[in-house]
Amino acid sequence: MEFEVTPWEVKGVVDYDKLIKEFGTTPLTEELLEKTKELTKSELPMYFKRKFFFSHRDYDLVLKDYEEGRGFFLYTGRGPSGPMHIGHIIPFFATKWLQENFGVNLYIQITDDEKFLFKPNLTFDDTKRWAYENILDIIAVGFDPDKTFIFQDSEFTKIYEMAIPIAKKVTYSMAKAVFGFNDQSKIGMIFYPAIQAAPTFFEKKRSLIPAAIDQDPYWRIQRDFAESLGYYKAAALHSKFVPGLMGLGGKMSASKPETAIYLTDDPEEAGRKIWKYALTGGRATAKEQRELGGEPDKCVVFKWLEIFFEPDDKALIERYHACKNGELLCGQCKRYLIEKVQNFLREHQKKREEAKKLVEKFKYTGEL
Ligand code: SF4
Repeated sequence: MEFEVTPWEVKGVVDYDKLIKEFGTTPLTEELLEKTKELTKSELPMYFKRKFFFSHRDYDLVLKDYEEGRGFFLYTGRGPSGPMHIGHIIPFFATKWLQENFGVNLYIQITDDEKFLFKPNLTFDDTKRWAYENILDIIAVGFDPDKTFIFQDSEFTKIYEMAIPIAKKVTYSMAKAVFGFNDQSKIGMIFYPAIQAAPTFFEKKRSLIPAAIDQDPYWRIQRDFAESLGYYKAAALHSKFVPGLMGLGGKMSASKPETAIYLTDDPEEAGRKIWKYALTGGRATAKEQRELGGEPDKCVVFKWLEIFFEPDDKALIERYHACKNGELLCGQCKRYLIEKVQNFLREHQKKREEAKKLVEKFKYTGEL
């Protein structure tokens, strides 16, 4: 096995081209990106230009619906099992761009029930507490409060009514193929796919789900039965993973604190983590680096700049070449990234504080 991607685990160094074939998704082509630019009359953000989002299902149909006036809506979510880190929040920034530039509604499902059911060590109170904490981080991204609807499954009980017709369509074997249930699986887990699919029916339009590609299997269930209930199959835009500090292979993991920068980390502490743990593509000595140049394609510091922290294309390309030519040393580069990360955290944490006053405003009650 070279690599393995499931909704629970990412192992090995992911080959994204192979993953497209394995999952049966479609590459996000230049043509679709050009169409996005044309329809939104906007420059693309770095997440799309730099191929962080690289694959899709039915995004072409989403654009067609938009162009022909049928519209679409966005749906995404968060499983509240702990603090959010930088890898969790980046897809939300891409979602914000989509909302702003297409002017569409966005529903955000906070699956406190799911995390309670699936994580043996979490109490229901834990997941509800994390739900509140995570909602603050999500609001801090800056979504439009008039078009963004956040709901927590345990509070938004209307979702049960919507899940019932779905629960009558999904067979045990369909759910098992995705979740891998066994004899010890709890019955709540088996019902859960119906709850997760329900928001894709909130509007009689196509839903578009921007998320990391490991979440794709969940939506395959919805795509199997949606049309039989008179709804659209969910469309998706898939991102790659944000690597942890210690390696480019997998994804940032909340269970390995030294590889992740949490959104609530003290900026000084975050800086220390980057300095100590971030893998670079540097050579053994400064002398060698000046002679041979560094390897930005193997460097987490460069990858983080490329994915999120260096929006300036020209500056990013210059850094790439300066590294390859041996003009840049890793210490300089790490300091640059640390400053960017610290500025981001300070700004985010300020907005997170302000978000406490906005929670009610974003709460979805089932009415638009
Ligand atoms: Fe990475 Fe910068 Fe070192 Fe190049 S100089 S390997 S980009 S940290």
